[in-house]
Amino acid sequence: MSISPKKLSVSPENINFSFSGAGQNIIEVHGCHETDPELLLFSAKAKSFEIDFFELCDTDDDIPNYCPSNRKLQKDCITPITKADFVCIDGGVDLTIDEMWKENSSGVRLIEAKGDRLVSDPTKRYYVLAGANLKCDHDVNPNNPDLCPNSFDVAASMKVANDTYGKVAISVNKFRVTVMKFNYDLWDDNGVLNDKEYNDLLEYRISKDELKGDNQEIFLVNEISLFGSTPRTAIAETNSNMVAINTKIAPSSTMTHEIGHAKWGFYHPNSQPLYEYDPNNFMYETATGRTMNIRRYHFTKMH
Ligand SMILES: [Zn+2]
Repeated sequence: MSISPKKLSVSPENINFSFSGAGQNIIEVHGCHETDPELLLFSAKAKSFEIDFFELCDTDDDIPNYCPSNRKLQKDCITPITKADFVCIDGGVDLTIDEMWKENSSGVRLIEAKGDRLVSDPTKRYYVLAGANLKCDHDVNPNNPDLCPNSFDVAASMKVANDTYGKVAISVNKFRVTVMKFNYDLWDDNGVLNDKEYNDLLEYRISKDELKGDNQEIFLVNEISLFGSTPRTAIAETNSNMVAINTKIAPSSTMTHEIGHAKWGFYHPNSQPLYEYDPNNFMYETATGRTMNIRRYHFTKMH
């Protein structure tokens, strides 16, 4: 690499770079703005990965397997329920009951309080049994049309990702955008993905073993629960290759930031191990006031 002019310049625009190496080694040039060095030029072997988008639609399709007027009878309203393991609710096409439980103000799980027994198995997932009283006490939610995500600009998110990761010779490609129908909203059935439901979604994806290579999966959902009183733009689990995005509010920089948590395990600069105020960092915790720079401790891990 040659840098001209040979003398240092006070104006970055007066410095020219040319590089003719094989690109096998990382070469970096930083500019200094007060104490905050910015990456100006980076050369390394190019890398890329695929991003797999899922428009996640919540399904509500339970069917009562009992007679609503006499909960001790099967749905023909003639045959008695004679076994404790009688399945009270048929999970429908999605094989899951639409609501696992509700907690009342005392924190009591209502399905269990009513005597119904909630069971899960690897194939049927969750279902409700009559239990020892041979009665189906748990109500079935009304069937609702699929609740799909709000419109989301995938191209704008891809552009931010390529602009940001491109600073360190990493590009991303859109693998596909597909609709995924799944009963993800099964704890309180309110159209909002909460932490418990997200963990369930991760378990489901892991059990399906359908992750393609080292693809990053992005789940586009209707809405995500609050963090305290703050609307959450996304959830990412470190080293999971999976991210959920709140399509109601997430700006186009959110995906790039969240992949930093999920794929590379980065933390916010103001938390451990750095405890640093650094808004010029793509891992700065809020999109407002954030500049999408990549720090050295990031790209040494990304490469
Ligand atoms: Zn974050």
